[in-house]
Amino acid sequence: MRPRKELYQRNFAAANVLLQIAMKFATVRNVSSPSRPIRLAAEDKLAALRRIDKSRSWNCLDERLYCTICKHEISGRQIEVVGGTNGLRALHLKCSTAGCLSTPDDWILPVKLDTVREIDILFRDNGG
Ligand SMILES: [Zn+2]
Repeated sequence: MRPRKELYQRNFAAANVLLQIAMKFATVRNVSSPSRPIRLAAEDKLAALRRIDKSRSWNCLDERLYCTICKHEISGRQIEVVGGTNGLRALHLKCSTAGCLSTPDDWILPVKLDTVREIDILFRDNGG
């Protein structure tokens, strides 16, 4: 029969290994799901949109964009500001559609069908 002390140490070592594995998994999980949307007040979100997406003026959060990746129209309100813990430079914008990996470069101003028709009519009138 083994001395009690040795048995205790073995159990302790096993528990320690399990703990290390658990810690490892916890770390990996944190890495694989990197950034969660940041809850921002309307003003702060607008400021974040202006700062991160410099290709647009962003006058208000109700401005809508068409995401060419998921084919959905999204408004500034729906766009998610996500970022890590590395400070403001790590912030980026995300389409609100789950699983859509588009960037602001993939967003265009939505063209309303009415506008297309008007342009079409104008073109025909001018062309005679
Ligand atoms: Zn999208």
